[in-house]
Amino acid sequence: MSVSEDVQSILKAEATRLGFDLVGICAAQPAPHLDFYKRWIDRGNHAGMEYLQRHESLKATPENLLPGCRSIIAVGLNYKQAAPYEPGEPRIASYALGRDYHRILRARLKRLSAWMEAQVPGVQTRACVDSAPIFERDYARLAGLGWFGKNTCLINSKRGSWFFIGLLLTTADLEPDIAAVGGCGTCRDCIDACPTGAIIFEDGRWQVDSRSCISYLTIEHRGEFDAKLAKRIGSWTFGCDVCQDVCPFNHSRPNQPMRAASSQDPDILQSRKWPSLVELARLGEDDWDALSSGSAIRRTGLEGIRRNARANLENLDA
Ligand code: SF4
Ligand code: SF4
Repeated sequence: MSVSEDVQSILKAEATRLGFDLVGICAAQPAPHLDFYKRWIDRGNHAGMEYLQRHESLKATPENLLPGCRSIIAVGLNYKQAAPYEPGEPRIASYALGRDYHRILRARLKRLSAWMEAQVPGVQTRACVDSAPIFERDYARLAGLGWFGKNTCLINSKRGSWFFIGLLLTTADLEPDIAAVGGCGTCRDCIDACPTGAIIFEDGRWQVDSRSCISYLTIEHRGEFDAKLAKRIGSWTFGCDVCQDVCPFNHSRPNQPMRAASSQDPDILQSRKWPSLVELARLGEDDWDALSSGSAIRRTGLEGIRRNARANLENLDA
């Protein structure tokens, strides 16, 4: 479905008006890294995330999510905010401190979708926010939002990597942007700083082995930890920011202050009062419901957050 030059020219301004910090466009195309992804799974790097294996074939092309898909609008939303940590308190990854990002991004993408439908009658769209089977980062790279760092985060040379990614698939034919280029050079700060050695080089590129990654262990791992895993998570209660914290692309420079700029977005900054680790380790269902309502931490579940808090307390005493 063709789109007038007028619509094309104001689409990005509309995305910016809706609060997105980055926006780019790429053509719908088969997933560039599908084969690598399959090999990554074959080597067991997905750990217990069986759903990643189940979604392999669906991820092959965006057409599987939106028949007739012609273009993909990729958006980025800065989520950086101070994540203070005191021993005895839970340590939460920066992205999970505010409101659940799925809700924030989906609500804004729906508004962008409504705008598209008003401008281009008959156009179809589908919003994807980290829950549909699609390689968000691959398409965001093609749309010019950033390139892959050794820590596997998408890095924007001007803004760093503290941003959420959302995609709006559409049947509209939009002019694509140029794919982002960049690289880490000889830097290996994230590899050296990762507390568990989870960033590894295999199959020709840097990747994360989920079996060792604290983000996986504290969020996706189900069941109890053995002593080794409990020690591995250290002080982290939900997620881990280390490989982004140390990345030079997230540090400001005189000519690039945006790299370390904190979000000013009220939705992102809506923080909550966190219980202490002792309270978290014995949290009841009602309190968990209240704490996790509208928060990304809900993903780990009550048993998961109690388990993480118990491990944090043991590591505190060690
Ligand atoms: S999130 Fe933490 S544990 Fe996982 S790769 Fe990054 S630094 Fe390592
Ligand atoms: S810390 Fe260095 S090696 Fe790691 S992603 Fe950033 S630039 Fe690349």
